[in-house]
Amino acid sequence: MTMPVVSLTNVTLAYNRHPAVHHVSGTLARGSLTAIAGPNGAGKSTLLRAIMGELKPAEGEIRRAMPSRDYGYLPQAADINRRFPVSVIDTVVTGAWKRAGAFGGIGRAERVKAAEALAAVGLEGFERRPIGSLSAGQFQRTLFARLLLQDAAVIILDEPFTAIDSRTTEDLIGIVQRWHGEGRTVVAVLHDHDQVRAHFPQTLLIARELIGWGRTDEVMTPDNLRRARALAERWDENAPVCAVAS
Ligand code: ADP
Ligand code: MG
Repeated sequence: MTMPVVSLTNVTLAYNRHPAVHHVSGTLARGSLTAIAGPNGAGKSTLLRAIMGELKPAEGEIRRAMPSRDYGYLPQAADINRRFPVSVIDTVVTGAWKRAGAFGGIGRAERVKAAEALAAVGLEGFERRPIGSLSAGQFQRTLFARLLLQDAAVIILDEPFTAIDSRTTEDLIGIVQRWHGEGRTVVAVLHDHDQVRAHFPQTLLIARELIGWGRTDEVMTPDNLRRARALAERWDENAPVCAVAS
């Protein structure tokens, strides 16, 4: 048995003492490729932030086998400000900071690697373009190039293919498979169940509580998906009441 990269023991995650994720236990094996599935508001992003070490559990314990610089993170597109006037190449180069440290200096070698990473995601010649001028797909390719440069052992992707054209999605799934082949641990939140079944051997299905975590064919069953939907309907009904109360 290889040592897990992340292990969770009875983890509850909360915002202002309101639990968003309840009592999750399980492990991410080194080199595994895992999809995280579940309805909107299920706590998927919250769980990723906790795995990244950005959010401390209200209860339970998260153990990580490696220091923070070994974890690469792609936030949900909605959480990224693209109006910042920065070029594609400078965005990619920041991927090296995680390794070198912000004061480690970014040399010519890093710029060459950044240009190579851009070529690998199909964005050769885009170096000087401001990120605000890119399509959603091109911007996502840029962020994947940044992850390539970061060279992290654990790669955590929050909805990498949501609102992304199918050509870009195919290309980026290719990069995920390359990472998997290199022995990195990859976790990605996905909404498309066909993509999950086609490309992800492991799945974690969550609806505020854990519904299943294991082999995709054993987790993505009609029963489990029904249960996830039923739980989501329950919290949707409560939503207006909560909104009034807060
Ligand atoms: P998902 O990614 O599965 O759609 P999230 O993890 O974003 O779900 O959210 C889970 C729950 O936590 C939701 O009810 C959401 O409103 C709440 N939540 C998420 N982020 C915050 C935050 N920063 N402050 C307060 N509540 C939050
Ligand atoms: Mg989310």
